[in-house]
Amino acid sequence: MARKPTMFISHGAPTLAIHDSAARQFLAAFGTRLGKPRAILVLSAHFEASTATVTASRAPETIYDFYGFPEALYNITYPVPGDPALADRVAGLLSADGIPAVLDASRGLDHGAWIPLSLMYPEADVPVVQLSIDRQKSTAYHFRLGESLRPLRDEGVLIVGSGGATHNLSHALRAPHDDPMVDWANAFREWLADAIEDDRRSDLANFRDVAPDASRNHPTEEHFLPLLSAMGATEPAEPRHRIHNSDMHGSLAMDAYLFGANGENL
Ligand code: ZN
Repeated sequence: MARKPTMFISHGAPTLAIHDSAARQFLAAFGTRLGKPRAILVLSAHFEASTATVTASRAPETIYDFYGFPEALYNITYPVPGDPALADRVAGLLSADGIPAVLDASRGLDHGAWIPLSLMYPEADVPVVQLSIDRQKSTAYHFRLGESLRPLRDEGVLIVGSGGATHNLSHALRAPHDDPMVDWANAFREWLADAIEDDRRSDLANFRDVAPDASRNHPTEEHFLPLLSAMGATEPAEPRHRIHNSDMHGSLAMDAYLFGANGENL
């Protein structure tokens, strides 16, 4: 089985699921290009726990963890199967590396997981498991999560980090959908693209101190940390590419990255 790449996806606002946008078109086309993996493991900004937690439901429910959005969004379901055996495997890999991990047999899929995946794989036939992140823990911890998960790539599992290249929600909520990108968000997203391209993992780990306007672009870290896990699951010698860039609401970069494979030769 060929080694799978890993991905980081910016999921933007929940309306990504229903309003046409460049990011929406990208995800739909990229899922087709990439093909279906055996299963998908998602680390989402919207699943945090103080002990690493893996979803182990056979039929994870669709969670509507957003408020005040159009009714149409609450009528979408993404009825993918879970994969309890994969959940066990994930917990085992983490434990073997000294990271305590527990299973949660009841938790479903948050919108950071089901919205982008429902665009990539609308047939809902690829099993999905989620692994929690924790903004109280370090950037190094989130790189380490990815490193522990590397063997899964040889087992047909696509590892996806889902967050945001930039994520100042209070700014984005005040700006119209098609507002042009502000300079401070653009500067951060281009710094990020360069740091990834050059594999500057220590700069990424210290992004709060070295990236331009880091605190303005990520007032909290939960939308940034899944990127580090997706990258950590690949070796520095492997290819890395920004495979999409667009934006919405004036400051949300919708950029996506592919790690561990050449985007042109999928
Ligand atoms: Zn989000």
